[in-house]
Amino acid sequence: TAKHVKVEDKTPAQPKPKKLKYDIPKLIESLAGRKPSLSFVVIGHVDAGKSTLMGRLLYDSGEVAERTMRKFQKESSEIGKSSFSLAWVMDQSAEERERGVTIDIAQSSFETSKARFTILDAPGHKDFVPNMIAGTSQADLALLVIDSSTDAFESGFKSGGQTREHALLARSLGCRRIIVVVNKLDTVGWSEHRYTSIVEEVTYFLSHIGFSKNSIRAVPCSGLTGENVTKRSTLEALSWYKGNSLLAELDSSVMVVNRDYSKPLAMSINDIFRGGISSSVVAVAGRIQQGSVQPEMEVMICPTQETATVKSVMLDDGDDREWAVSGDTITIELTNLDDTDIKVGDVLCSANHPLKSVNMFKARIVTFENMAWPLLAGVSFELIRGRTNRSARVTKIHSILDKATGQVVKKRPRHVGSGMAAMVEIIVDGHAMPMTTFKDNKELGRMILRKEGMSIAAAVVDELIEKEYE
Ligand code: GDP
Repeated sequence: TAKHVKVEDKTPAQPKPKKLKYDIPKLIESLAGRKPSLSFVVIGHVDAGKSTLMGRLLYDSGEVAERTMRKFQKESSEIGKSSFSLAWVMDQSAEERERGVTIDIAQSSFETSKARFTILDAPGHKDFVPNMIAGTSQADLALLVIDSSTDAFESGFKSGGQTREHALLARSLGCRRIIVVVNKLDTVGWSEHRYTSIVEEVTYFLSHIGFSKNSIRAVPCSGLTGENVTKRSTLEALSWYKGNSLLAELDSSVMVVNRDYSKPLAMSINDIFRGGISSSVVAVAGRIQQGSVQPEMEVMICPTQETATVKSVMLDDGDDREWAVSGDTITIELTNLDDTDIKVGDVLCSANHPLKSVNMFKARIVTFENMAWPLLAGVSFELIRGRTNRSARVTKIHSILDKATGQVVKKRPRHVGSGMAAMVEIIVDGHAMPMTTFKDNKELGRMILRKEGMSIAAAVVDELIEKEYE
Protein backbone atom coordinates (compact mmCIF):
# COMPACT_ATOMS: atom_id res chain seq x y z
CA THR A 1 0.00 0.00 0.00
CA ALA A 2 1.06 3.55 -0.56
CA LYS A 3 1.40 6.20 2.05
CA HIS A 4 1.34 9.76 0.88
CA VAL A 5 3.75 12.21 2.37
CA LYS A 6 4.60 15.71 1.33
CA VAL A 7 7.88 15.89 -0.53
CA GLU A 8 10.67 17.12 1.69
CA ASP A 9 13.48 19.21 0.37
CA LYS A 10 15.79 16.41 -0.68
CA THR A 11 18.39 17.17 -3.30
CA PRO A 12 19.82 14.09 -5.00
CA ALA A 13 23.32 15.30 -5.84
CA GLN A 14 25.39 18.14 -4.47
CA PRO A 15 28.35 19.00 -6.66
CA LYS A 16 30.38 21.79 -5.17
CA PRO A 17 29.26 25.14 -6.58
CA LYS A 18 31.84 26.62 -8.93
CA LYS A 19 32.79 30.24 -9.08
CA LEU A 20 31.26 31.43 -12.32
CA LYS A 21 32.21 34.29 -14.60
CA TYR A 22 29.07 36.40 -14.54
CA ASP A 23 27.42 38.00 -11.55
CA ILE A 24 23.85 37.81 -12.83
CA PRO A 25 22.13 40.01 -10.18
CA LYS A 26 24.49 42.85 -11.13
CA LEU A 27 24.19 42.28 -14.85
CA ILE A 28 20.44 42.15 -14.73
CA GLU A 29 20.37 45.89 -14.13
CA SER A 30 22.03 46.38 -17.49
CA LEU A 31 18.93 44.87 -19.09
CA ALA A 32 16.70 47.59 -17.71
CA GLY A 33 17.45 50.07 -20.47
CA ARG A 34 17.07 47.49 -23.21
CA LYS A 35 14.08 46.82 -25.37
CA PRO A 36 11.75 44.29 -23.81
CA SER A 37 11.27 40.97 -25.56
CA LEU A 38 7.75 39.68 -25.99
CA SER A 39 6.54 36.46 -27.50
CA PHE A 40 3.12 35.89 -28.88
CA VAL A 41 1.26 32.91 -30.15
CA VAL A 42 -0.96 33.00 -33.22
CA ILE A 43 -4.16 31.07 -32.84
CA GLY A 44 -7.34 30.54 -34.85
CA HIS A 45 -9.07 28.18 -37.21
CA VAL A 46 -7.19 26.47 -40.03
CA ASP A 47 -7.18 28.76 -43.10
CA ALA A 48 -7.96 31.88 -41.05
CA GLY A 49 -4.85 33.36 -42.68
CA LYS A 50 -2.42 33.04 -39.77
CA SER A 51 0.66 32.10 -41.80
CA THR A 52 -0.07 34.71 -44.46
CA LEU A 53 -0.50 37.40 -41.82
CA MET A 54 2.74 36.48 -40.05
CA GLY A 55 4.60 36.40 -43.37
CA ARG A 56 3.22 39.87 -44.06
CA LEU A 57 4.24 41.14 -40.65
CA LEU A 58 7.79 39.85 -41.09
CA TYR A 59 8.08 41.02 -44.69
CA ASP A 60 6.70 44.51 -44.09
CA SER A 61 8.88 45.01 -41.05
CA GLY A 62 11.91 44.24 -43.20
CA GLU A 63 12.83 40.85 -41.74
CA VAL A 64 12.60 38.95 -45.02
CA ALA A 65 15.11 39.64 -47.76
CA GLU A 66 13.63 40.78 -51.10
CA ARG A 67 15.49 37.94 -52.76
CA THR A 68 13.92 35.30 -50.50
CA MET A 69 10.48 36.78 -51.07
CA ARG A 70 10.96 36.74 -54.85
CA LYS A 71 12.06 33.11 -54.65
CA PHE A 72 8.92 32.20 -52.67
CA GLN A 73 6.75 34.10 -55.15
CA LYS A 74 8.31 32.28 -58.08
CA GLU A 75 8.03 28.85 -56.45
CA SER A 76 4.47 29.38 -55.35
CA SER A 77 3.25 30.62 -58.73
CA GLU A 78 4.94 27.61 -60.36
CA ILE A 79 2.66 25.31 -58.44
CA GLY A 80 -0.34 27.59 -59.02
CA LYS A 81 -0.62 28.84 -55.44
CA SER A 82 0.82 32.32 -55.68
CA SER A 83 -1.13 33.54 -52.65
CA PHE A 84 0.92 31.11 -50.54
CA SER A 85 4.23 32.91 -50.90
CA LEU A 86 3.71 34.99 -47.75
CA ALA A 87 2.67 31.96 -45.74
CA TRP A 88 5.90 30.21 -46.74
CA VAL A 89 7.90 32.74 -44.79
CA MET A 90 6.63 31.03 -41.66
CA ASP A 91 6.78 27.47 -42.90
CA GLN A 92 9.88 25.50 -42.19
CA SER A 93 10.33 22.76 -44.69
CA ALA A 94 9.54 21.87 -48.27
CA GLU A 95 7.31 19.08 -47.06
CA GLU A 96 5.15 21.53 -45.15
CA ARG A 97 4.98 23.76 -48.19
CA GLU A 98 3.72 20.91 -50.30
CA ARG A 99 1.02 20.10 -47.81
CA GLY A 100 0.16 23.77 -47.46
CA VAL A 101 -0.16 23.62 -43.67
CA THR A 102 2.07 24.84 -40.92
CA ILE A 103 2.67 21.68 -38.93
CA ASP A 104 5.03 22.75 -36.23
CA ILE A 105 5.95 25.79 -34.25
CA ALA A 106 8.09 27.94 -36.47
CA GLN A 107 9.78 30.76 -34.69
CA SER A 108 10.59 34.14 -36.05
CA SER A 109 11.47 37.46 -34.58
CA PHE A 110 11.14 41.08 -35.57
CA GLU A 111 11.83 44.36 -33.91
CA THR A 112 10.03 47.66 -33.57
CA SER A 113 11.17 50.86 -31.93
CA LYS A 114 9.54 49.64 -28.71
CA ALA A 115 10.27 45.93 -28.44
CA ARG A 116 11.55 42.72 -29.90
CA PHE A 117 8.83 40.27 -30.77
CA THR A 118 9.05 36.52 -31.17
CA ILE A 119 6.26 34.83 -33.06
CA LEU A 120 5.37 31.38 -31.87
CA ASP A 121 3.29 30.35 -34.85
CA ALA A 122 0.72 27.84 -33.82
CA PRO A 123 -0.86 25.57 -36.37
CA GLY A 124 -4.62 25.54 -36.81
CA HIS A 125 -4.92 21.95 -37.89
CA LYS A 126 -7.02 19.83 -35.58
CA ASP A 127 -4.38 17.19 -34.74
CA PHE A 128 -1.88 19.85 -33.80
CA VAL A 129 -3.43 21.26 -30.64
CA PRO A 130 -0.68 19.69 -28.48
CA ASN A 131 1.85 21.77 -30.43
CA MET A 132 -0.28 24.82 -29.91
CA ILE A 133 -0.26 24.15 -26.19
CA ALA A 134 3.54 24.00 -26.26
CA GLY A 135 3.73 27.34 -28.06
CA THR A 136 1.10 29.01 -25.95
CA SER A 137 2.66 28.08 -22.65
CA GLN A 138 5.58 30.32 -23.61
CA ALA A 139 3.54 33.23 -24.89
CA ASP A 140 3.02 36.58 -23.22
CA LEU A 141 0.24 37.45 -25.58
CA ALA A 142 -2.14 35.77 -28.02
CA LEU A 143 -3.22 36.90 -31.47
CA LEU A 144 -6.57 35.38 -32.28
CA VAL A 145 -6.94 35.43 -36.06
CA ILE A 146 -10.52 35.36 -37.32
CA ASP A 147 -11.48 34.82 -40.95
CA SER A 148 -14.17 37.46 -41.52
CA SER A 149 -15.14 36.28 -45.00
CA THR A 150 -18.73 35.23 -45.60
CA ASP A 151 -19.61 32.06 -43.66
CA ALA A 152 -16.01 31.49 -42.54
CA PHE A 153 -16.49 33.25 -39.19
CA GLU A 154 -19.67 31.29 -38.71
CA SER A 155 -18.00 27.91 -39.28
CA GLY A 156 -14.68 28.70 -37.60
CA PHE A 157 -16.06 30.30 -34.49
CA LYS A 158 -19.70 29.61 -33.96
CA SER A 159 -20.18 25.96 -34.79
CA GLY A 160 -17.54 23.79 -33.21
CA GLY A 161 -14.49 25.30 -34.92
CA GLN A 162 -11.13 25.34 -33.19
CA THR A 163 -11.17 29.04 -32.43
CA ARG A 164 -12.97 28.69 -29.12
CA GLU A 165 -10.77 25.83 -27.93
CA HIS A 166 -7.64 27.79 -28.84
CA ALA A 167 -8.83 30.87 -26.97
CA LEU A 168 -9.74 28.79 -23.94
CA LEU A 169 -6.33 27.12 -23.98
CA ALA A 170 -4.59 30.47 -24.30
CA ARG A 171 -6.40 31.74 -21.23
CA SER A 172 -5.80 28.52 -19.28
CA LEU A 173 -2.11 28.64 -20.13
CA GLY A 174 -1.70 32.09 -18.70
CA CYS A 175 -2.02 34.51 -21.64
CA ARG A 176 -3.50 37.61 -20.10
CA ARG A 177 -3.79 39.75 -23.19
CA ILE A 178 -5.36 38.92 -26.49
CA ILE A 179 -5.66 40.78 -29.77
CA VAL A 180 -8.60 39.79 -31.96
CA VAL A 181 -7.43 40.14 -35.54
CA VAL A 182 -10.44 40.42 -37.82
CA ASN A 183 -8.65 39.21 -40.94
CA LYS A 184 -9.53 38.94 -44.65
CA LEU A 185 -11.76 41.99 -44.32
CA ASP A 186 -10.89 42.68 -47.99
CA THR A 187 -13.26 39.84 -48.90
CA VAL A 188 -16.27 41.64 -47.42
CA GLY A 189 -15.55 45.11 -48.85
CA TRP A 190 -14.09 46.33 -45.52
CA SER A 191 -17.54 46.25 -44.01
CA GLU A 192 -17.73 48.11 -40.70
CA HIS A 193 -20.87 46.20 -39.81
CA ARG A 194 -19.15 42.83 -40.34
CA TYR A 195 -16.19 43.97 -38.24
CA THR A 196 -18.29 45.29 -35.39
CA SER A 197 -20.53 42.27 -35.15
CA ILE A 198 -17.57 39.85 -35.15
CA VAL A 199 -15.76 41.89 -32.48
CA GLU A 200 -18.88 42.00 -30.34
CA GLU A 201 -19.44 38.29 -30.47
CA VAL A 202 -15.81 37.30 -29.94
CA THR A 203 -15.36 39.80 -27.10
CA TYR A 204 -18.43 38.42 -25.38
CA PHE A 205 -16.99 34.92 -25.57
CA LEU A 206 -13.50 35.97 -24.44
CA SER A 207 -14.76 37.85 -21.42
CA HIS A 208 -16.88 34.83 -20.54
CA ILE A 209 -13.78 32.58 -20.44
CA GLY A 210 -11.84 34.93 -18.19
CA PHE A 211 -10.15 37.63 -20.26
CA SER A 212 -10.84 40.96 -18.60
CA LYS A 213 -12.49 43.55 -20.87
CA ASN A 214 -9.45 45.81 -21.02
CA SER A 215 -7.11 42.96 -21.93
CA ILE A 216 -9.00 42.37 -25.18
CA ARG A 217 -8.14 44.45 -28.24
CA ALA A 218 -9.40 44.20 -31.81
CA VAL A 219 -7.92 45.18 -35.17
CA PRO A 220 -9.34 44.91 -38.71
CA CYS A 221 -6.88 43.92 -41.43
CA SER A 222 -5.93 41.83 -44.43
CA GLY A 223 -2.77 39.80 -44.24
CA LEU A 224 -2.88 39.17 -47.96
CA THR A 225 -3.07 42.81 -49.08
CA GLY A 226 -1.15 44.08 -46.04
CA GLU A 227 -3.82 46.64 -45.18
CA ASN A 228 -3.56 47.87 -41.54
CA VAL A 229 -0.87 45.30 -40.65
CA THR A 230 2.28 47.36 -40.08
CA LYS A 231 0.83 50.78 -41.01
CA ARG A 232 -2.45 52.58 -40.41
CA SER A 233 -4.51 52.03 -43.52
CA THR A 234 -5.21 54.97 -45.82
CA LEU A 235 -7.84 53.00 -47.68
CA GLU A 236 -11.05 54.99 -48.21
CA ALA A 237 -13.17 51.87 -47.56
CA LEU A 238 -11.55 51.53 -44.14
CA SER A 239 -11.79 55.20 -43.18
CA TRP A 240 -14.43 54.37 -40.54
CA TYR A 241 -11.69 52.71 -38.48
CA LYS A 242 -9.86 55.11 -36.18
CA GLY A 243 -7.74 52.66 -34.18
CA ASN A 244 -4.24 51.24 -34.42
CA SER A 245 -2.54 49.05 -37.02
CA LEU A 246 -1.78 45.53 -35.80
CA LEU A 247 1.87 46.42 -35.23
CA ALA A 248 0.99 49.52 -33.21
CA GLU A 249 -1.41 47.41 -31.19
CA LEU A 250 1.40 44.92 -30.48
CA ASP A 251 3.64 47.79 -29.43
CA SER A 252 1.00 49.05 -27.05
CA SER A 253 0.88 45.61 -25.40
CA VAL A 254 4.50 45.78 -24.33
CA MET A 255 4.74 45.02 -20.67
CA VAL A 256 7.49 44.53 -18.20
CA VAL A 257 8.64 40.93 -18.25
CA ASN A 258 9.04 39.43 -14.85
CA ARG A 259 12.61 38.20 -14.64
CA ASP A 260 12.64 35.76 -11.80
CA TYR A 261 16.35 35.07 -11.87
CA SER A 262 16.84 34.53 -8.16
CA LYS A 263 15.30 31.04 -8.16
CA PRO A 264 17.30 27.97 -9.25
CA LEU A 265 17.47 27.39 -13.00
CA ALA A 266 14.61 25.55 -14.70
CA MET A 267 14.08 25.29 -18.46
CA SER A 268 11.80 22.80 -20.17
CA ILE A 269 13.60 21.38 -23.18
CA ASN A 270 11.69 22.10 -26.37
CA ASP A 271 14.27 20.91 -28.86
CA ILE A 272 17.42 18.78 -28.91
CA PHE A 273 20.20 19.00 -31.48
CA ARG A 274 22.65 16.12 -31.62
CA GLY A 275 25.55 15.21 -33.83
CA GLY A 276 27.07 18.58 -34.42
CA ILE A 277 30.79 18.99 -35.02
CA SER A 278 31.55 16.95 -31.98
CA SER A 279 29.26 14.16 -30.85
CA SER A 280 30.13 14.85 -27.23
CA VAL A 281 28.25 18.14 -27.44
CA VAL A 282 24.46 18.17 -27.33
CA ALA A 283 22.51 21.38 -27.76
CA VAL A 284 19.14 21.94 -26.12
CA ALA A 285 16.71 24.78 -26.74
CA GLY A 286 13.89 26.32 -24.73
CA ARG A 287 12.78 29.31 -22.73
CA ILE A 288 14.13 29.76 -19.24
CA GLN A 289 11.25 29.43 -16.82
CA GLN A 290 13.16 30.53 -13.77
CA GLY A 291 16.70 31.37 -12.72
CA SER A 292 19.72 32.01 -14.90
CA VAL A 293 22.38 30.15 -16.85
CA GLN A 294 25.93 30.83 -18.04
CA PRO A 295 28.98 28.93 -19.33
CA GLU A 296 30.72 26.48 -16.95
CA MET A 297 27.59 26.02 -14.89
CA GLU A 298 26.83 22.48 -13.73
CA VAL A 299 23.36 21.41 -14.73
CA MET A 300 21.13 18.41 -14.20
CA ILE A 301 18.48 17.02 -16.50
CA CYS A 302 15.32 16.02 -14.68
CA PRO A 303 13.88 13.46 -14.20
CA THR A 304 16.87 11.32 -15.34
CA GLN A 305 19.32 13.20 -13.08
CA GLU A 306 22.02 13.16 -15.72
CA THR A 307 24.52 15.92 -15.16
CA ALA A 308 26.35 18.08 -17.67
CA THR A 309 28.34 21.28 -18.00
CA VAL A 310 27.16 24.31 -19.93
CA LYS A 311 29.57 25.01 -22.77
CA SER A 312 27.83 27.99 -24.31
CA VAL A 313 24.59 29.96 -24.20
CA MET A 314 23.06 31.54 -27.28
CA LEU A 315 20.09 33.88 -27.24
CA ASP A 316 17.52 33.30 -29.96
CA ASP A 317 16.75 36.99 -30.31
CA GLY A 318 20.33 37.63 -31.44
CA ASP A 319 21.45 39.46 -28.32
CA ASP A 320 25.16 38.73 -27.81
CA ARG A 321 25.04 38.05 -24.07
CA GLU A 322 26.77 34.83 -22.96
CA TRP A 323 24.36 34.47 -20.06
CA ALA A 324 20.59 34.28 -19.92
CA VAL A 325 17.81 34.69 -17.40
CA SER A 326 14.18 33.76 -16.91
CA GLY A 327 12.11 34.76 -19.95
CA ASP A 328 14.96 34.41 -22.47
CA THR A 329 14.58 31.94 -25.33
CA ILE A 330 17.93 30.23 -25.78
CA THR A 331 19.99 27.37 -27.15
CA ILE A 332 22.54 25.84 -24.78
CA GLU A 333 25.45 23.61 -25.69
CA LEU A 334 26.14 20.92 -23.09
CA THR A 335 29.30 18.88 -22.54
CA ASN A 336 30.28 16.15 -20.07
CA LEU A 337 26.94 14.51 -20.53
CA ASP A 338 27.04 10.92 -19.19
CA ASP A 339 24.51 9.61 -21.58
CA THR A 340 22.53 11.36 -24.27
CA ASP A 341 19.15 10.09 -23.25
CA ILE A 342 17.60 13.56 -23.03
CA LYS A 343 14.01 13.86 -24.15
CA VAL A 344 11.96 16.82 -25.24
CA GLY A 345 9.92 17.85 -22.19
CA ASP A 346 12.73 17.06 -19.71
CA VAL A 347 13.71 20.01 -17.55
CA LEU A 348 17.21 21.43 -17.41
CA CYS A 349 17.97 22.44 -13.82
CA SER A 350 20.82 23.69 -11.72
CA ALA A 351 22.81 20.64 -10.52
CA ASN A 352 22.73 22.04 -6.99
CA HIS A 353 18.99 22.63 -6.91
CA PRO A 354 17.19 20.30 -9.29
CA LEU A 355 13.40 20.30 -9.41
CA LYS A 356 11.63 17.48 -7.66
CA SER A 357 10.22 14.78 -9.88
CA VAL A 358 6.99 13.10 -8.86
CA ASN A 359 4.32 10.80 -10.20
CA MET A 360 1.55 12.15 -8.00
CA PHE A 361 0.26 15.57 -7.20
CA LYS A 362 -2.76 17.39 -5.92
CA ALA A 363 -4.22 19.80 -8.45
CA ARG A 364 -6.97 22.33 -8.72
CA ILE A 365 -8.74 21.73 -12.01
CA VAL A 366 -11.31 23.67 -13.97
CA THR A 367 -13.24 21.55 -16.43
CA PHE A 368 -14.25 23.06 -19.76
CA GLU A 369 -17.82 23.52 -20.89
CA ASN A 370 -19.29 20.83 -23.11
CA MET A 371 -17.16 18.01 -21.74
CA ALA A 372 -18.59 14.86 -23.31
CA TRP A 373 -18.54 12.88 -20.05
CA PRO A 374 -18.11 13.78 -16.40
CA LEU A 375 -14.60 13.26 -15.08
CA LEU A 376 -14.38 10.19 -12.82
CA ALA A 377 -11.59 8.73 -10.72
CA GLY A 378 -9.69 6.09 -12.68
CA VAL A 379 -10.40 7.40 -16.17
CA SER A 380 -7.17 8.04 -18.06
CA PHE A 381 -6.37 11.15 -20.07
CA GLU A 382 -3.41 12.95 -21.58
CA LEU A 383 -1.62 15.44 -19.39
CA ILE A 384 0.04 18.18 -21.40
CA ARG A 385 2.58 20.68 -20.14
CA GLY A 386 4.63 22.47 -22.79
CA ARG A 387 6.11 19.74 -24.96
CA THR A 388 5.43 17.02 -22.41
CA ASN A 389 2.54 14.72 -23.18
CA ARG A 390 1.91 11.99 -20.59
CA SER A 391 -0.75 9.49 -19.81
CA ALA A 392 -2.35 10.17 -16.42
CA ARG A 393 -5.41 9.47 -14.25
CA VAL A 394 -7.36 11.15 -11.52
CA THR A 395 -7.03 8.90 -8.46
CA LYS A 396 -9.14 10.88 -6.03
CA ILE A 397 -11.64 13.69 -6.23
CA HIS A 398 -11.22 15.59 -2.99
CA SER A 399 -13.84 18.27 -3.46
CA ILE A 400 -15.85 20.48 -5.75
CA LEU A 401 -14.91 24.14 -5.36
CA ASP A 402 -16.77 27.34 -5.91
CA LYS A 403 -15.24 28.72 -9.14
CA ALA A 404 -15.17 32.28 -7.90
CA THR A 405 -14.16 31.94 -4.25
CA GLY A 406 -12.32 28.60 -4.25
CA GLN A 407 -14.38 27.48 -1.22
CA VAL A 408 -15.26 23.80 -0.90
CA VAL A 409 -18.89 23.30 -1.88
CA LYS A 410 -18.97 19.51 -1.83
CA LYS A 411 -16.62 16.94 -0.30
CA ARG A 412 -15.68 13.63 -1.95
CA PRO A 413 -17.98 13.92 -4.95
CA ARG A 414 -18.31 10.94 -7.33
CA HIS A 415 -17.50 12.95 -10.43
CA VAL A 416 -16.71 16.40 -11.82
CA GLY A 417 -19.08 17.74 -14.45
CA SER A 418 -18.57 20.37 -17.18
CA GLY A 419 -17.57 23.88 -16.24
CA MET A 420 -16.71 23.09 -12.62
CA ALA A 421 -13.73 23.64 -10.35
CA ALA A 422 -12.40 20.77 -8.23
CA MET A 423 -9.48 19.64 -6.11
CA VAL A 424 -8.21 16.26 -7.30
CA GLU A 425 -5.26 13.93 -7.00
CA ILE A 426 -3.55 13.00 -10.27
CA ILE A 427 -1.16 10.14 -10.97
CA VAL A 428 1.15 10.19 -13.98
CA ASP A 429 1.94 6.80 -15.54
CA GLY A 430 5.54 5.76 -16.20
CA HIS A 431 8.54 7.75 -15.06
CA ALA A 432 8.27 10.72 -12.72
CA MET A 433 7.78 14.25 -13.97
CA PRO A 434 9.85 17.24 -12.80
CA MET A 435 7.39 19.62 -11.26
CA THR A 436 6.71 22.65 -9.10
CA THR A 437 3.54 23.92 -7.53
CA PHE A 438 1.71 26.69 -9.39
CA LYS A 439 2.56 29.01 -6.54
CA ASP A 440 6.28 28.41 -7.12
CA ASN A 441 6.22 28.61 -10.89
CA LYS A 442 3.22 29.47 -13.02
CA GLU A 443 4.56 27.80 -16.16
CA LEU A 444 5.82 24.55 -14.64
CA GLY A 445 2.84 24.18 -12.33
CA ARG A 446 0.16 24.46 -15.01
CA MET A 447 -1.20 21.78 -17.34
CA ILE A 448 -4.00 20.87 -19.72
CA LEU A 449 -5.98 17.63 -19.61
CA ARG A 450 -7.05 16.18 -22.95
CA LYS A 451 -9.02 13.15 -23.95
CA GLU A 452 -9.81 11.78 -27.38
CA GLY A 453 -8.56 14.88 -29.11
CA MET A 454 -10.47 17.32 -26.93
CA SER A 455 -9.23 19.60 -24.20
CA ILE A 456 -11.27 18.77 -21.12
CA ALA A 457 -9.73 20.78 -18.29
CA ALA A 458 -6.97 23.06 -17.10
CA ALA A 459 -5.02 22.12 -13.98
CA VAL A 460 -2.73 23.95 -11.59
CA VAL A 461 -0.51 22.00 -9.20
CA ASP A 462 -1.33 22.57 -5.57
CA GLU A 463 0.99 20.09 -3.87
CA LEU A 464 3.58 17.49 -4.91
CA ILE A 465 3.05 14.04 -3.42
CA GLU A 466 5.77 11.49 -2.96
CA LYS A 467 4.61 7.93 -2.90
CA GLU A 468 6.32 5.76 -0.35
CA TYR A 469 5.96 2.01 -0.34
CA GLU A 470 5.89 0.22 2.99
P1 GDP B 1 -3.62 29.46 -41.90
O1 GDP B 1 -4.05 28.05 -42.08
O2 GDP B 1 -4.43 30.13 -40.84
O3 GDP B 1 -2.15 29.63 -41.67
O4 GDP B 1 -4.00 30.25 -43.25
P2 GDP B 1 -3.10 30.65 -44.51
O5 GDP B 1 -2.25 31.81 -44.19
O6 GDP B 1 -2.45 29.44 -45.07
O7 GDP B 1 -4.24 31.19 -45.50
C1 GDP B 1 -5.31 30.37 -45.95
C2 GDP B 1 -5.85 30.90 -47.27
O8 GDP B 1 -6.43 32.19 -47.09
C3 GDP B 1 -4.77 31.09 -48.33
O9 GDP B 1 -5.29 30.72 -49.58
C4 GDP B 1 -4.48 32.57 -48.28
O10 GDP B 1 -3.99 33.07 -49.48
C5 GDP B 1 -5.84 33.14 -47.94
N1 GDP B 1 -5.74 34.42 -47.22
C6 GDP B 1 -4.97 34.63 -46.12
N2 GDP B 1 -5.11 35.90 -45.68
C7 GDP B 1 -5.99 36.50 -46.51
C8 GDP B 1 -6.55 37.84 -46.57
O11 GDP B 1 -6.26 38.72 -45.75
N3 GDP B 1 -7.44 38.06 -47.57
C9 GDP B 1 -7.78 37.11 -48.47
N4 GDP B 1 -8.63 37.45 -49.43
N5 GDP B 1 -7.27 35.87 -48.45
C10 GDP B 1 -6.38 35.55 -47.48
